[in-house]
Amino acid sequence: MSDRITQLDDATIRQIAAGEVVERPASVVKELVENSLDADADRIDVTVEEGGTDRIAVSDDGIGMSEADLRAAVREHTTSKIEDADDLEAGVTTLGFRGEALHTIGAVSRVTITSKPRGGERGTELRLEDGEVESVGPAGCPEGTTVEVADLFYNTPARRKYLKTTTTEFSHVNTVVTRYALANPDVAVSLTHDGREVFATTGRGDLQSALLSVYGREVATSMIAVDGTDADRGVEISGYVSDPETTRSTREYVSTYVNGRYVSSPVVREAVLSAYGGQLSAERYPFAVLFLDVAPDEVDVNVHPRKMEVRWGDESAVKETVETAVEDALLDHGLVRSSAPRG
Ligand code: ADP
Ligand code: MG
Repeated sequence: MSDRITQLDDATIRQIAAGEVVERPASVVKELVENSLDADADRIDVTVEEGGTDRIAVSDDGIGMSEADLRAAVREHTTSKIEDADDLEAGVTTLGFRGEALHTIGAVSRVTITSKPRGGERGTELRLEDGEVESVGPAGCPEGTTVEVADLFYNTPARRKYLKTTTTEFSHVNTVVTRYALANPDVAVSLTHDGREVFATTGRGDLQSALLSVYGREVATSMIAVDGTDADRGVEISGYVSDPETTRSTREYVSTYVNGRYVSSPVVREAVLSAYGGQLSAERYPFAVLFLDVAPDEVDVNVHPRKMEVRWGDESAVKETVETAVEDALLDHGLVRSSAPRG
């Protein structure tokens, strides 16, 4: 007796798969910004309406796509970033490689992509509806790519219902765009919400000017440089932390990047907080933007496509290196009192 099991249809399979990648507007923004960075963009403009639930547009001046590439890009499991498992084994240097973002976003929204290759003659516009190509035609557009995502989850009301308020969804979008803007100070990144520009970095290349654009003058001028090396363990750390007075009531302004990639690392966050040695008020957290360069065999940054977790070879070593570097920076500026001598 086997009459309980049925094969799912393609549309249902697509929607289930989409759920893995696309949780909310911010996940769409993340995928599109990563694509723009992988496409070697010098400029990325992110525009959202209603926290991204109505419309998301990400526009870049990257390498662009030909009509054939554009048609291929929206199919399932298509990528220009790896060719086979050997490439995976050798180590991926792009932010994406799974070849599923455009396809799955297309399954749960109305997508329009316009693109023109660098140095190319003509642009192309492609529209997707319910994950299928609806139209392809010529478009007058500049070199680079614009992906527009409208009506997220219009065809999955159950998912749409779980979206939060515009304010909450936008704050997730803001967090994501901020992350990439700070990690890529050499790219001019702008974020606009409901017609209002939230921030725009210059793309000049220095982290300090990106911090100024993103966090504003008060925070940026309170931040001091952190620099440290632990040659034995092959860990290098650089970045900025705020003085103990410039704080917020959430931990989310402590950002960690490992080998250029944003990660969510409780270990690093705890190390930063303990470096302040009790100088922070209760329930107050500093701003920190820290870049760790770690030998690739000492860290795994590809644990999960969405969770941004990281697995360390030697967790306590990382903690100590971070804590020492941040503490030294604060001490240098007379911002914390010297604790017991370190061994
Ligand atoms: P992945 O990024 O994992 O390769 P995606 O579905 O996100 O998969 O994108 C599929 C392909 O489409 C990419 O490999 C790339 O070749 C192309 N592509 C996507 N976005 C852009 C962009 N903004 N500029 C140029 N090419 C792009
Ligand atoms: Mg991608």
